[in-house]
Amino acid sequence: MSQQPSKSSEATKPAHFIRQIIAADVAAGLHDGKVQTRFPPEPNGYLHIGHAKSICLNFGMAEEFGGLCNLRFDDTNPEKENDEYIRSIQDDVRWLGFQWSGEVRHASGYFQQLYDWAVYLIEQGKAYVCHLTPEEARAHRGTLTEAGKNSPYRERSAAENLDLFTRMKNGEFADGECVLRAKIDMASPNMNLRDPIMYRIRRAHHHQTGDAWCIYPTYDYTHGQSDAIEGITHSICTLEFEDHKPLYDWYLDNLPVPARPRQYEFARLNLNYTVTSKRKLKQLVDEKHVSGWDDPRMPTIAGLRRRGVTPQALRQFCEMIGVTRSDGIVDVSMLEFAIRDDLDKNAARAMCVFNPLKVVITNFDATRVEQLTAPKHPQREDLGTRELPFTRELFIDRNDFREVAEKDFKRLVLGQEARLRNAYVIRADEVIKDANGEIIELRCSYDPDTHGKNPADGRKVKGVIHWVSATQCVDVELRLYERLFTAENPEADKDKTFLDFINPQSLSVIHAKAESSLKNTAPETRFQFEREGYFCSDRYDCTPNLLVFNRTIGLKDSFGK
Ligand code: ATP
Ligand code: MG
Repeated sequence: MSQQPSKSSEATKPAHFIRQIIAADVAAGLHDGKVQTRFPPEPNGYLHIGHAKSICLNFGMAEEFGGLCNLRFDDTNPEKENDEYIRSIQDDVRWLGFQWSGEVRHASGYFQQLYDWAVYLIEQGKAYVCHLTPEEARAHRGTLTEAGKNSPYRERSAAENLDLFTRMKNGEFADGECVLRAKIDMASPNMNLRDPIMYRIRRAHHHQTGDAWCIYPTYDYTHGQSDAIEGITHSICTLEFEDHKPLYDWYLDNLPVPARPRQYEFARLNLNYTVTSKRKLKQLVDEKHVSGWDDPRMPTIAGLRRRGVTPQALRQFCEMIGVTRSDGIVDVSMLEFAIRDDLDKNAARAMCVFNPLKVVITNFDATRVEQLTAPKHPQREDLGTRELPFTRELFIDRNDFREVAEKDFKRLVLGQEARLRNAYVIRADEVIKDANGEIIELRCSYDPDTHGKNPADGRKVKGVIHWVSATQCVDVELRLYERLFTAENPEADKDKTFLDFINPQSLSVIHAKAESSLKNTAPETRFQFEREGYFCSDRYDCTPNLLVFNRTIGLKDSFGK
């Protein structure tokens, strides 16, 4: 079976099984050769890196096969859902670079149709109102090895069920007093087919439908029919829904639905050093272990964005991990690789001194400012250049100087030379100390004939260090982030909770001196601070008055070293 050519299917893309299934369906002319997918989040939290995998798959397949992908809020649990989540989910999908087909959809938009179909099933003798208490229902359900028992309410007449269901809808029963169940098979080896609940009574205000309904359909009763209403051809979900598929099919087989979608399951993304349960992420936010859902340490899409990760890096990562049916744990260093790879290619370079030590160039005039020019990126001429003012007083990093040094120290040593990056070679001539013996200043001399070239006399200068002008630099706040969890699997320990593995060093804030070209940095601008790491100006807190940069990631993988 040959794959459909399209703008985004390069030869390198693996022919994963979903891609193969869709290609085969398209080639066989199924659904008139059309592909319609959907991404169906429940608006009960922010999207995380796992959702990115599902988004890339659903939108990616539609794009690749010339089809469409819907964004549908799976909003059947009003108590846990809200508008903030609805907004953030749309922002995240767009930021990843995808556009859904038409308007945003809501499962709640189909409540009337779902209700009418429930009435249809009742009329067909395939659904009934059940008054068992939750405990009784559990006792009737049986186990994996034991068949369940029929509910005493199972044989109610269609007329009686219709009356009771109407009264459920009209609010004549208390919350939880009864439910509507599909009449399938209490002896089925698949527990999902043992007369599953279709509707429960809940007097909850719904963010879309207000107080119009006091009964709400279950996920299982809602999902497939919503797919059918929207003409979804391939309903792609994660493996935990595999056991629900017979129920998904049962509803579609027993209802007069306008289309026949098919469900396909793939393995969800699990990442080490990362928690991706929405409930746990919410707990981190609610208990203020992080500053919010978009805290740069969070594995949410909004958090990754704020940290400085690009949408391209996330999409590349999702392509790298592939799509399979076997559960595994992806090493977070793969994500970090994708992030670094993208930033290395695209982030402008800049110099920022974290731990400033004053340097006075004794043979450079105090009133002089020499504007040096440096490329923003060593391989990307298209990114242009920046001006670096060179002045008598400079800052270098304290760690880049030693009075006496081991042989392998390749930076500035008293009495020796080093190159200031993008500028001149300097020699450290003298050290000035305070009363405590701490170095407070270096007296250096520069060689004016070394800008962009080696010393004329053939002297070899090995070390290159970064610097900024002390009189023409900007103060910046740096938020240095590390992984949020110290354990590979923060959820594995039986005697502890994931909260016990929060990395106490996951955030430290320092103040530093950056080159003056950063003065008017707009929010969400990414840089490589040379020799230090990748940084992104904070989306919310970076202003001309206080430049705030988040460390996206270090230059090299140094975790635990
Ligand atoms: P919950 O339903 O418990 O709130 P969820 O993570 O399943 O959490 P949904 O909003 O229902 O969240 O997920 C929307 C879609 O994203 C679903 O199709 C789901 O299968 C998929 N998805 C969720 N988590 C992952 C993951 N870790 N990897 C891949 N896909 C995921
Ligand atoms: Mg879900």
